[in-house]
Amino acid sequence: MKEPRAPALPGPLPDERGLAFLLVRRGVPLLIAGMSFVIATLHAEGRGWWLLLGVGSLAAAWPSFLRGQAFLRNRTAIMRQDSLWANALLPLARRLGLEDAWILAFCGYNNQRVRAAFSGRRARRALILLPHCIQMSRCKAGILDDLQACYDCGLCPVGDYMNAALLNRWEGRITNRSHKAYREAREYRPDLVVAVSCTDRLLKGLSKMPEIPCYVIPLVLHHGMCVDTDFSVPHLFSAMEALVEPRRPGGEIQPLRREGIA
Ligand code: SF4
Repeated sequence: MKEPRAPALPGPLPDERGLAFLLVRRGVPLLIAGMSFVIATLHAEGRGWWLLLGVGSLAAAWPSFLRGQAFLRNRTAIMRQDSLWANALLPLARRLGLEDAWILAFCGYNNQRVRAAFSGRRARRALILLPHCIQMSRCKAGILDDLQACYDCGLCPVGDYMNAALLNRWEGRITNRSHKAYREAREYRPDLVVAVSCTDRLLKGLSKMPEIPCYVIPLVLHHGMCVDTDFSVPHLFSAMEALVEPRRPGGEIQPLRREGIA
């Protein structure tokens, strides 16, 4: 018998690990620019082309310096370029056995910028996207149609999420298909998405929805892909507390946890 989960509490947001992606994303074009300018200085032949390459490389590196409101204003173009880098180097990372680490570095880098963008002014219209595989596979509660069909038995993260969503009036969707999640997000028109998914889908989501700022949280795959997955509910709490304007009503509501029924 699976033990009920400990109740989740908000805390500080964990550090984001995006340095590896930043080193590649900014370092490679800066290196090419530097080499191009040196070659242009030393060799008269083809100088114009080397200068052109150097300037182009500086332009490629420039978006990696944009932060805060500048990042939000230029977000679509920036995310298209960042996604290109992430996807272009994915086959190499895969060959080196570093696929997950590379995607997580991209996610961490993205999260750093989203945090910086919403640190001064928090989001007012946020949407949470969760995958259906967080529901325990043998549970029959129809949470896809109605989140409150969950009995909050404590055996999977859905109950914790439901309580927090009701208490804090969070807007969220649990979906079983990526394209449905994208459609929901575009229809709702949020100023911030907080998305939970596996690394593969997080990369896909960040690449396919460059126009919406997304703070992403990776799933924990204790039982492999798409079955009884888990995620840090305290991490979601912390992200919502730090990045989103509270909508919580006055007075504390204490949700009751029912006996395990699943
Ligand atoms: S009833 Fe229990 S197992 Fe089913 S979704 Fe809710 S918390 Fe998860």
